[in-house]
Parts: sequence; C-alpha cells; structure tokens
Amino acid sequence: MKIALVGIGKIALDQHVPALDVSPDWELAATVSRKGTVDGVEAFTDIGAILDARPDIPVVSLCLPPVPRFEVAQAVLRAGRHLMLEKPPGATLAEVHALCDLAERQGVTIYATWHSRMAMAVAAARDWLADKTVQDGRITWREDVRKWHPGQDWIFEAGGMGVFDPGINALSILTAILPQPVRLLSADLDFPANRQAPIAARLRFSQGIDADFDFRQEGPQTWDMEFQTDGGRMALRMGGNRLEIDGRHVQGADDIMGEYPALYAQMARLVSGGNRDADLAPMVLVADAFTLGRRNSVADFHF
Ligand code: NAP
Repeated sequence: MKIALVGIGKIALDQHVPALDVSPDWELAATVSRKGTVDGVEAFTDIGAILDARPDIPVVSLCLPPVPRFEVAQAVLRAGRHLMLEKPPGATLAEVHALCDLAERQGVTIYATWHSRMAMAVAAARDWLADKTVQDGRITWREDVRKWHPGQDWIFEAGGMGVFDPGINALSILTAILPQPVRLLSADLDFPANRQAPIAARLRFSQGIDADFDFRQEGPQTWDMEFQTDGGRMALRMGGNRLEIDGRHVQGADDIMGEYPALYAQMARLVSGGNRDADLAPMVLVADAFTLGRRNSVADFHF
C-alpha cells in the first residue's frame, strides 16, 4: 500500500523512513513537511494539497509534535484516509477521542502507536506477570534531552509534555504488562523556571509502583523497570528490550531497531482487517500527573 509521511524531522528520518524502506507492506509515496524531504520521494508542504493531488495514497502517518497534529489528523480522516499517529497521539485526550469518533464515522483505521510496546521483551514480560501479584515496582527513565531532542524547543512548551515525552513510553509499557490497571496517586513535577513543561518528575502509583523520570541524564542512559511479585523479581531494561527474571537474562537484547517495523506491520494488519487501535491508558496517566502534580521550580534550561 502507498503511504504518506507527515513531519519529516528527527523520528521520521531516524526510524519511520528506514522501517518503510524494509517493509514488504508499504511504499513511501509522498511526504508533507515545510522543510524536510526524503530523497526520491514526492514532497508536499501542505496537507490539503497532497490529499487533493494524490487520491491514490490511502494511508497517512503523522510524525509531527503533538500540538500541531490535530488539524492535520482531522483533514486526513475527513478525506477518508487511514491515519497512523506517533506517540503521544495528541496534545489532549479530548482531541484523540474526537479523532477516534471521526475515524469510526468515516469507516477508516486510526492507529495510535506506542513504539515502546513493540520492544523485544514486552510481550514476554506481560505473559510472565499475568498470573502474579505485583508487590512493588520501580521505573527509572532517565535520558539526555540534548541527545534525543536536540534544539526541540516545542518539547518544553505548553503541550510538549517535557520529560513525559519519553516518560509516556515507560507508561505505555507499564499499562501493557500489568495484570491489573494502575492508578496515579501523586506526582512531583520539576519545571525549569524559563520553561512551560517539566524536566523531571517523580510519580507514585497504586500497586506500590514509583517512577523517576529525568531529562538531564548525561552519560549512560537508563530505561529500566523492576518489579517484586509474589512469584519472584522481574526487570525490563533497555526500554523494554531486555527481560531478566530473578536477576537472570532470559530474553531480548540491547537493541531498539525492531520497534518501528513492528508498528508498520501492525498498521498493515489494522488497515487490511478494517480495525482501529487507540489505547489512551498511557496518556491518561500523564494527564493525571499534570492534574495532581505538585510543581517545583528548578534551574533554567537551555539547549
Ligand atoms: P521534530 O523533529 O522536532 O519534529 C518533526 C517535524 O515536525 C519537524 O521536522 C517539522 O517539520 C514538523 N514540525 C515541528 N514543529 C512543528 C510545528 N509547530 N508546526 C508544524 N510542524 C512542525 O520532532 P521529532 O523528534 O521527530 O518528534 C515528533 C514526534 O515523534 C513527537 O511526538 C515525539 O514524541 C515522537 N518521537 C520522537 C522520538 C525521538 O527520539 N526524537 C522518538 C520516538 C517518538 P517541517 O519544519 O519540515 O514542517
């Protein structure tokens, strides 16, 4: 199937274009971006123009930041095209509900992707936890915003989510693997004095689970979660790619390259089957953290 990619920036070039290149399901037929392009692929700068000019492209994948995404997503669905969304699927929950309703009315697919759920060891972790009771857990998601989001000021603007941009990846795994749904109890959010979104957050959930998100980690990066259960200890490391049970490595590797090919394979299945997939559980937890969170002011941040 032909597909168009919108928002040719860091993640489009790092992951989406390479995943489409090796996919047996997809042909990257056009792009939409004000500045970004992909060699050899027809480039548009406006969503309306491509929807008019290329009725032969039935699927559009959005890699824009969350705030400018809604209008574009709505235009895609109104034009009767299937829609795939980078995480987080929108700037607000209401926006995504509106998009899901529109997709249903139009009879097209909407896929709110969570790339971390495609990490190598997530399914095995979910299966291992299925018959256990979590007694406590610790999520440590610490990365360097300058390395992963160089110069992306949008991430610290209102709606950019700050440290929840990576933190929501951890929450997408958490909400996929736990046998019982988790609830946010409290949050502490550190906002740089010159920014509108937090650079660090500490969260407390039901089931004795704590999370520590930080965007200021230099050197080795940490994307780990550890759980104590009534049936032993489990750790998921490297963003869900490596599973350890009672300290022993049992599955996966330190590699994240399979996530986006798996997302595009899933989108192909959803479109072929006429299905939709938009689980908002990770975004609900982030919204709750902003609702309940205590605000601390910390040092200015500059890229
Ligand atoms: P990005 O490079 O800053 O933005 C992607 C593209 O969107 C930009 O190149 C720009 O293209 C367009 N854009 C940016 N701001 C815009 C605005 N205000 N209005 C209209 N278009 C705008 O961001 P990214 O890192 O690729 O992230 C995009 C999405 O992917 C985010 O939701 C992020 O959470 C997710 N994601 C990122 C990473 C990562 O490692 N960076 C990993 C996984 C997922 P033009 O200027 O050419 O229009």
